Amino acid sequence: MTFRTTSQESTSMTVSRPSPRLAPRSVAVVLGTRPELVKLAPLVHALGPAARLVHTGQHWDEAMSGRFLRELSLPEPQVLTGVGGRPRAGQIAASLDQLDTAFTADRPAAVVVQGDTNATLAGALAANARGIPLVHVEAGLRSHDRAMPEEHNRVMVDHIADLLCAATPENAANLRAEGVDGRRIATTGNTVVEVVRAQLPGPAEQAALLDRHGLRADRYLLATVHRPENTDTAEALGAVLGALDELATTGLPVLLPLHPRTVAAAERFGLTRLLARLRVVEPLGYAEFLGLAGQAALLVSDSGGVQEECTVLGRPLLVVRRSTERPEAVDTGFAALVSPGADLAAAARARLAEGPTLLARLAAVPSPYGDGHAAERIARLTAELAAPSAAAARRIANPPS
Ligand code: UDP
Repeated sequence: MTFRTTSQESTSMTVSRPSPRLAPRSVAVVLGTRPELVKLAPLVHALGPAARLVHTGQHWDEAMSGRFLRELSLPEPQVLTGVGGRPRAGQIAASLDQLDTAFTADRPAAVVVQGDTNATLAGALAANARGIPLVHVEAGLRSHDRAMPEEHNRVMVDHIADLLCAATPENAANLRAEGVDGRRIATTGNTVVEVVRAQLPGPAEQAALLDRHGLRADRYLLATVHRPENTDTAEALGAVLGALDELATTGLPVLLPLHPRTVAAAERFGLTRLLARLRVVEPLGYAEFLGLAGQAALLVSDSGGVQEECTVLGRPLLVVRRSTERPEAVDTGFAALVSPGADLAAAARARLAEGPTLLARLAAVPSPYGDGHAAERIARLTAELAAPSAAAARRIANPPS
């Protein structure tokens, strides 16, 4: 896969062009959840001393944030207060207010946000309110499901961002279809490719992980469930957990690192009996999760990030969702959308029946999410956005041939 802009889009996608120099701590990287920490890590490293992390505290605890900061060698963030645990509007309002104060006290040259969380929207609005150039990483995803707050967040951010880093040509096409000016869009790839390559444990560590969990390579399922559509009602959660419970009786263990939202929902709905046959564990650290996902016979998940990671790991995934904003993973054969309940159990049995043939087929398919250089591209484009005069001077000195 090559990464390039369309004829309308002005930014060049070569990796080798040098970046304008950025002042230390001049790019505010706003994040608030586990997937943002994961996917922004390569960009924070590419920005180097120019990056300054602001954590909204949307998921602020050791399991979902603290250990990810350490594992991914991220710098100490400024952490906002009173954001986590509030309803959506309260989270956005509390973050926005504090971000505005922070950006006024020490104005960044650019603000970077990623994805579709409340932190993403708050960071974008705060940049917009102060006229600070805004970069949206992972722009242009669309589930076309307006029941999802994430869909609203990503659409709003895309329409106010100054630089939209689309992971795939399909994402860029979604933006153009909504009338976004092509000069603001760059097709960069997704930073997930480089973070998976960097964090995936080596063979000896993978073998030790299997030992620790009492599992055998290609002989277990790994599941994650946390989206509101699967956890907000007893019926929905009962359907997913019921299918996983049924699969656990067919001989292969089902490992389920449980998200705090799902634990609370299972207790609230009296569904903890459906967990009895599953190997329920606390949320895993990133390298451990990747090491186990990379050896699972089958992944079952409603996570956005896992839909991308399975294409780098070469493992099959059943996506327990009504819709997906990541059709590339489905079109390349890594993932399939299934509804919870009987469909999920039947689809899992069918995929497992393909065994090594399916794994061999997937191993030959490249990830649709890029070549592992997305972060370098985004860092350079961010530097050009933050230092427009330097970029313009260089363009005059080196006109495109
Ligand atoms: N993940 C992890 N440990 C776990 C479960 C997931 O490190 O026990 C990682 C996973 O690899 C992915 C990210 O967390 O990179 C996904 O987070 P989540 O499902 O919370 O968010 P989403 O991707 O749906 O936005």
